[in-house]
Amino acid sequence: MPLDPGRTVAELRELRELTGDENGAQRVAWTDTWERARDWLRGRLAGTGADEEIDPAGNQWFTLRGASERVLVIGGHIDSVPNGGWLDGCLNVLAGVEVMRRLSEEGEPPLTVRLVSWADEEGARFGRSLFGSSAAAGSMADQDELRSRVDANGIALPQALSEHGVDLDRALDARPQLESAAAYLELHIEQGPVLESLGLALGVVLGTFGVERHQITFRGQAAHAGSTPMDQRRDALAGAARLELEIREIAKRTGAGAVCTMGSVVTRPGIVTSVVETAECLLDQRHLDGAALASMLDAAKSASERIAGEENIEVEWERVWRIDPILFDDELIGLAEEAVREVAGESHRLPSGPLHDAAEVSRAGIPTVMIFVQSLRGLSHTKLEDTKPEHLELSVRALDVLTSKTLAHLSGA
Ligand SMILES: [Zn+2]
Repeated sequence: MPLDPGRTVAELRELRELTGDENGAQRVAWTDTWERARDWLRGRLAGTGADEEIDPAGNQWFTLRGASERVLVIGGHIDSVPNGGWLDGCLNVLAGVEVMRRLSEEGEPPLTVRLVSWADEEGARFGRSLFGSSAAAGSMADQDELRSRVDANGIALPQALSEHGVDLDRALDARPQLESAAAYLELHIEQGPVLESLGLALGVVLGTFGVERHQITFRGQAAHAGSTPMDQRRDALAGAARLELEIREIAKRTGAGAVCTMGSVVTRPGIVTSVVETAECLLDQRHLDGAALASMLDAAKSASERIAGEENIEVEWERVWRIDPILFDDELIGLAEEAVREVAGESHRLPSGPLHDAAEVSRAGIPTVMIFVQSLRGLSHTKLEDTKPEHLELSVRALDVLTSKTLAHLSGA
């Protein structure tokens, strides 16, 4: 049976029926609905002869043995956020199912091919994203902290995991799963507006953004709103407001996809009759190039100091979180570009703003690439998330062609 991308679209709709409601997808990891999705996925692969295995981190693997022990991995995640979209994560898994079907029809592949549905990519219930992939990649190092995490109902993370057969203390035993991996491929919806604005169905992802996240506190002086003349104020909010406008210029000057966001400003005392004494801002900066990211951070710091001087207030920076950019594999990027051109005519290279399981796999040293398919209106993590069916079908074809090219490349054919 040749590849049938229309079947993938039908199966995505079937999964939506099975695990969604009027508010959207409800496949939150470590819940009964998620388990139902995993059972259903098992049924989809029944005819392929693939062996199933759930690893110690809860990742669900399907393996088609090939002529070689080396492994090509295709990955996605079947979990969703609550009230999520119908494509985020599961498109990759179901496109992978279709590729596995095609391969199993054709006899033994030159390499072993494995499809993985990563456990808890979204971190929706316990706030810990990329759970399964970070365990398999060996980068998970926060078990002590995870032990004390609870969900909104007060259920502890280790308890919830054990109900689904996962022992937090043994999650890193998933590490051997990636030991023979020679390449990792992931297809995903873009979750942003870039491909749609370019009128393109598909793009090739260069890597995931590096992120710098800081809390910036401006300190002035609380003073009566009626009795303090405008030229004698030390207004902390003026610092925050001017910096907010400045970071937009910094991102624009840096270019190449640079983004800077001031996502929150909390003012104190926060009453209408007082000049603001402290303004606590949260700043998020992202870039695919580490040096460009560092210079955006420097530029924001020096702007904040200049503004503080002009406003006669103080400013203090504290790092909240950071991650380096993660760059995908040059050769696989080239193959993905060929695959996208073959099925869609034109390709575009773009960075990924969100992190994905692919970032964890790439960080573990396994050559990795992702393909993005256009998202309508750039929306995701909402029931409004959508992609045209014809673009979904093209994306399945692109993953299939990329799989063939990668197998040929790795087996020296
Ligand atoms: Zn996703």
